[in-house]
Amino acid sequence: MSEIVKDFTIESYLEYIRNKKLMGSKCKDCGETYVPVRKLCTKCNTANMEWVEMSGKGKVAAFTSITVGTPFFVEKGYGRNKPYCFSVIKLDEGPMVSGQLVGVDESKPETISVDMPVKVKFLETEIKGETRVDLGFEPA
Ligand SMILES: [Zn+2]
Repeated sequence: MSEIVKDFTIESYLEYIRNKKLMGSKCKDCGETYVPVRKLCTKCNTANMEWVEMSGKGKVAAFTSITVGTPFFVEKGYGRNKPYCFSVIKLDEGPMVSGQLVGVDESKPETISVDMPVKVKFLETEIKGETRVDLGFEPA
């Protein structure tokens, strides 16, 4: 029985996230890895891709403390008095992804540093009886 290969689309990528898997597409020709997925390798312009699961490990490349959040974060209780930290993570496999950084003291950004090792943490939120899963990271 052969496994059905999902299309290399953002929809498939997000479906994996909902199932708590951080997946990327890897070019079979040059080995370049893309997260979120791409159909075409921008290096060799081919569509010779395969799905690969990321280790979820990486390092903080950039971060920012946000006090004026989107309605989603306001609903979660974040705001002027409780900032949240949004980060850009360089995965060990190479690609850069963004997500909320948890498990840190958001009110003391000086305690968070670039190059800090992190690991993936899928963040579940109940919204109107449905569970939303977002990509997040926490200190490793
Ligand atoms: Zn390639």
